[in-house]
Formats: sequence, structure tokens, C-alpha cells
Amino acid sequence: MVVAEQKDALAEKLKEVFGYTSFRGNQEIVIKNILSGRNTFVIMPTGAGKSLCYQLPALMRDGLAIVISPLIALMKNQVDQMNAYGVNARFLNSTLSKAEITRLRKDCLNGEVKLLYVAPESLNKEENIAFLKKVNVSFVAIDEAHCISEWGHDFRPEYRRIKSMIAQFGKLPVIALTATATPKVQLDIQKNLQMEEADVFVSSFNRKNLYYEVRPKKETKKQLIRFLKDHKGKSGIVYCLSRKKVEEVAQLLNVNGFKAAPYHAGLDADVRMKNQDDFLNEEVDIIVATIAFGMGIDKPDVRFVVHYDVPKSLEGYYQETGRAGRDGLEGHCLMFYSHNDLNKLEKFNKDKSVQERENARILLQEMEFYSESPVCRRRQLLHYFGEEYGQNNCESCDNCVHPRERFDGTEYVKIVLEAVKQTNERFGLNHLVNVIRGVEDEYIKSYGHFDLAVYGKGGSEEADFWKSVVRQALIYQYLEKDIDNIGVLRMSEKGKKFLVKPHPIELARDHDFTTAIDEEEESSERTGTSKSYDVKLFEMLKVLRRKVAKEKNLPPYVIFQDPSLEEMATTYPITKEDMASVNGVGMGKVNKFGKEFLELIQRYVEENEIETATEVVVKSSVNKSKTKIFIIQQIDRKIDLEEIAESRAISFDELLSEIENICYSGTKLNLDYYIDEVLDAEKQELIYDYFLNSETDSIEEALANEANEDFSEEELRLMRIKFLSEYAN
Ligand code: ADP
Ligand code: MG
Repeated sequence: MVVAEQKDALAEKLKEVFGYTSFRGNQEIVIKNILSGRNTFVIMPTGAGKSLCYQLPALMRDGLAIVISPLIALMKNQVDQMNAYGVNARFLNSTLSKAEITRLRKDCLNGEVKLLYVAPESLNKEENIAFLKKVNVSFVAIDEAHCISEWGHDFRPEYRRIKSMIAQFGKLPVIALTATATPKVQLDIQKNLQMEEADVFVSSFNRKNLYYEVRPKKETKKQLIRFLKDHKGKSGIVYCLSRKKVEEVAQLLNVNGFKAAPYHAGLDADVRMKNQDDFLNEEVDIIVATIAFGMGIDKPDVRFVVHYDVPKSLEGYYQETGRAGRDGLEGHCLMFYSHNDLNKLEKFNKDKSVQERENARILLQEMEFYSESPVCRRRQLLHYFGEEYGQNNCESCDNCVHPRERFDGTEYVKIVLEAVKQTNERFGLNHLVNVIRGVEDEYIKSYGHFDLAVYGKGGSEEADFWKSVVRQALIYQYLEKDIDNIGVLRMSEKGKKFLVKPHPIELARDHDFTTAIDEEEESSERTGTSKSYDVKLFEMLKVLRRKVAKEKNLPPYVIFQDPSLEEMATTYPITKEDMASVNGVGMGKVNKFGKEFLELIQRYVEENEIETATEVVVKSSVNKSKTKIFIIQQIDRKIDLEEIAESRAISFDELLSEIENICYSGTKLNLDYYIDEVLDAEKQELIYDYFLNSETDSIEEALANEANEDFSEEELRLMRIKFLSEYAN
């Protein structure tokens, strides 16, 4: 009866305070557990509703619940939310003034406060401990508990002192919560909090509605834009490693017509807040961010999460991708992978202690295996967090939807298991592979492993192949990780049985990402001299241009400039919009001249079965300098060109070059007000005629032509601008 009553009371409170009609997943059983005074350990994926597991019990108990949480920004957020529910929740951290602290203490001692959020740093202060000792504390919650473990991805040294701090308040029940804990991290947390006996509640980590995909990091910008076009108007997050990259990608997206805003710790707090709010309020669709963004963000309809750079750990990756599809609908998680990114990440660790470096390296290695593996992504992720995935095909990851070719792996797995067994289950992946391949290194010698029957059984297969087999044996649970000794692999029961009575096992080869190159290399490639465009198509476009020019009685360059044709021969535009976004083209030109070109490209693409990048025209934002915009504005206001040059502190010649550039990249400029001043109508007509009939728009040739002997270079250039603006744009 007591239980039933409690259940009703809980459900009532849930409805009354939070407005929810039912508990989710493990919430209820967890809440009852902490209410019964038991130490409780909760592992629940992001977004599943961990906060409620301590918020609700806090309201059911006398006194105040202490919530230890690592991020000050999150604290404020949660406190605001609770206050909005009419719950007296407060926080104690370094942002409070003396007066605020005094008031807070008074309220806590009066028993008015139900939830007190504290940063571990603040808890560490003598005076705060002394004061909290006097307060009636109901229990302690430790949110983001993975921060305790140095084996995880978010280690915070202050977290390791939590146990000794809270022990000073007497014997209180503790609830620790996290969204990411591998079995190793889980054990570490429990040991550190001395709550090995705690009741552990693990919710399934499977996020059925998320699609996982890894692609080689190659022409990443193009791929990204194509991907985003397929998700146009939807909410999403693009994670980048560095602030610089965040800025760069956000700008790239804006220039290409997406509503995107940057977010990183280097931005002013108010800009950061605004961008975050704009994203939450759907003023912008895409937030481009470092991992500083997202903890505690609760936007239900994030439709995609892109990792532009490889994340530092699978824990981080899983948490970040977990922000997609919280409402249960579609969520596409795309990661761009290159080995080079791993090298970069490894370099960041060079100043860390040996132990930290080693931990970070192991996390990176897991990242590498995950990315390159042919095994169902979901199975791998769940396995990583200690959960077995029951199905063979999840139908919602790249490896399941586009399975890699399989081969009979029975003999290979046998060899791997033999290697583990014969080395007494005391070694890790690299050594096992060395044994199998018959490598002669110091370890092999010192352990005498060349005497083993399995030594050198690996034949001609490469180390990478064998590593992959070991990994697959692990993921399919023929092997298991030794929790106490990081990196060490042991036989599982399933593995032992298999060795006695083998059955056929199918394996697949890893993805080959050796061709993935990252941006820097890409851009140096672009500036190289080799032709990156489709030469054949380019020649065909030129022929067509000549024909159209003849028909219209215009010089060819008026139709399209060479750089525009080169771009078309790179991006294969087949719609008007695509063609209009080619540099130097614009919709006006497309409508005037585009039809035949579009048809030609369409035919060409079909005949050659080209996988077009049509929808992807990566416009770079480099040329849109302030000077250009200034010039366009001044010309609109009909300011004398001399004056513009002067106010910009550039020569007249430089100004003309800028104007020409503007013109060539497709913007119309009306210089009549100025030209009419410096050239009479007759002269204008003569020069105009010349360009109309000339094969080229080269100024050198114009100067060399006797028709123009009375004209200066400047005059010719001015008229060329007029001409191009009127005809070409
Ligand atoms: P976590 O900390 O596990 O990432 P949160 O505690 O921030 O997740 O909760 C995520 C979202 O789920 C919040 O919007 C919260 O209000 C909502 N939520 C939690 N429990 C319930 C419930 N029982 N019914 C409906 N919504 C819930
Ligand atoms: Mg949370």
C-alpha cells in the first residue's frame, strides 16, 4: 500500500510541478531508489531526462538537495527553469556577489531552498562547507558524473575530490548521473565515489531514429553544402574543432545562402548568447560550433549533426550526435573523417602528462576504429558503452545501408582467438597483431612469444587487416575488454565456445580512407597549376559560346567569361539556379544566354554518367571585401571616381581594377554619370563599337588597334566596364 501511495504521490507531483503525465524510461524506478535512501547510479543517454531524477525527489523530501554540476552556464539555465516551475532552486558559484551569497545562505538555513546547484570549485571552499554543514541536506546529486573519471573524455580534477567534500555533511544518499560511461569509466566513477554497492540503472543508449554516417574528408566544403541543401530549412549543428574553422565554415554557409551563425568560446558573451537564442528561436537554421556548444541545450527538432572535423572521443561524438532528433523524428549524423585529423588531435596532447596523453591516445584510437570499421555503426557505439545490439542490420547507418563486401572470416577469427589464448589474455591489440604476423620486436623477444604455435600464422595479410579482424572479434563479442587493465583483451565465453566448436563467421574489410585529405591540402591543390576542371566539357562550352556569340552578334566573352566556363566544367550546373550561382554569371545572364548551355551540360552529364556536383557551387567569401562594397555603394550614389579613389586611398588605376573585378564577377555597375562627364557621346560610340566587334576584351589589343589611337587606356577601360555591364550582366 505504501508503495502504491508513493507512486501516486510521485505521479501527482510530476503532473503538478512539471506538467508531465508520465515518467520516461527508468525515471520512476530511479526516483524511488534515491527516495528510499539508496545510493543510485544512473546512466541515461542525453535528452532522456536525467535532471528530473533529482529534481523531483528534492521536492518530495524535507531539506535541500545539493546538485553538483560542472558548468556554470548550465546551472543558471536549470535554476531558471526550476524557478519558472515555481520551485525555489538556487545556485552557488563564483559569479555571485558577497551580498548575494549572504542572502543565499540565509534562505538555505531558513529551509526555503529545495535545490542548490553548486560548482565543485565552490564546494571546495572552507566557508561553503562550514555553512552547508549547518543546512538540512536531503541528498546529493552529481550530474555529468563522467567528469570524475580520467579514463573518460571530460575529466575535471575537482570532481575527484567530491567524495571527501560531501562526506563532511554526514552520511547522505548520493545519486550520480551521466550520459556517457563506458564500463571502465562506470567502474572508475563508482570507486571514486565509494559507491560500488550503489544500484545502477542503465538505460539503453540506442537512438533508433538517428542515422550514422562517416565519409572521407575530401572536398569537404562541397560535400557539406550538398548535404545541407538536402536539409534546407531544417535545424542542425555543424561541429568544428577550432574557433577559426567555426568562423570560416559559418561564413561559407552564409555566402552560400544558408542561415547560419557561429558559436565558440572566443565570441563575446552577448554575441554567443544571441547566436544560441537565434538558433533556438529558429532565426538561424544552422549553428556552426566548437564543442563548447550544446551541453544542456534542449532543442527537440535538431535534424542533423555534422562533424566537420573528427571528434576527440566516441563519448564526445555520441553526446554531440545525441543532440539530433530528440523529438524522436529523423536525425542524420554525418562525420567527415581523415586520418590527418587524428594526427592533429594527437599533437594537441603533447603538453599533457604521460598518463593523460596515453588516455587521450586510446580515445582517439577508438575513434579511428569506429570510423574505419565496416561493422554496423549502431552496434559499435552500443558495444562501446557496454550494450549489446541484438539485430544484424540496423538499417539506419551507412554500413548497414551500403554493406561492404563480406568474406568468410572463420579462420581469421580462430587465429586471433588463439593468439589471445596462447598469450594468456594479457595483451592488447598491437601486440596480438605482431604475434600473429610474426614480427620480431623487443616485446616478442622478452616474452618469448616466437615460440607460440600461433606466432607468424598471419601469412601475408597486413597489420591493418589483422587489427580489423581483432576489432570485429571484439565487437561481435568473441573477445572482451579487461576492465581493470586498459587495452588488454580477453576471451569471452562466446569466444571460448567458438574455439571448441567453430561456426562460420562473416567479416568485412575496413573502409579505406587513405584518399581522404583535409582542407589545407585541398586549398593548396586548388591553387596549383594542374587543371581541375573537365577539359572536354570546357572545350565544348567554348564552341557553343562561339556559336551563340555569332548568332547574337556579340563577342564571345560577353556571353560568358572563361573562368565562368571553367567553373561550369567543374560543377556541372543543370538548373538555372545552379548556373546563376557560378561566379560571373547571375540570373540575368542565365535567362539571356543560359538555355543552350544548360542543355549541353545536361546531355554531357547523362552521356558520361557523371555524378554531378551540380547542386554544389561552393562560393568563397574572400572577394567580398569591404572595399568592393564601399565602391558599389559610392557608385550608386554617383560619386566621382576620383573622389572614391581618394577616400579609399588607392590610385585611380587600382580603383578601375576593383571596378572591373566587380563587373566580371557579375555585378552591374552604372558609370554613365561619370563617363558622360569625361567622354563625349561620339567617342563613347566609337569605343563601344570597337568592343562590340572585337574578338576579345583585352585592353592591350584595344590599345594596339588603330581604331582606338585617340583614346587613353583609362577611357578604354571605362567604356569596357560600361559595355560589359550593359551586355554581359
Ligand atoms: P538529460 O539531462 O538526460 O540530457 P534533461 O533532463 O535535460 O535530459 O531532459 C531532456 C528533456 O526531456 C527536457 O526538455 C525535459 O523537460 C524533458 N522530460 C524529462 N522528463 C520528462 C517526462 N517524464 N515527460 C516529458 N518530458 C520529460
Ligand atoms: Mg543533463
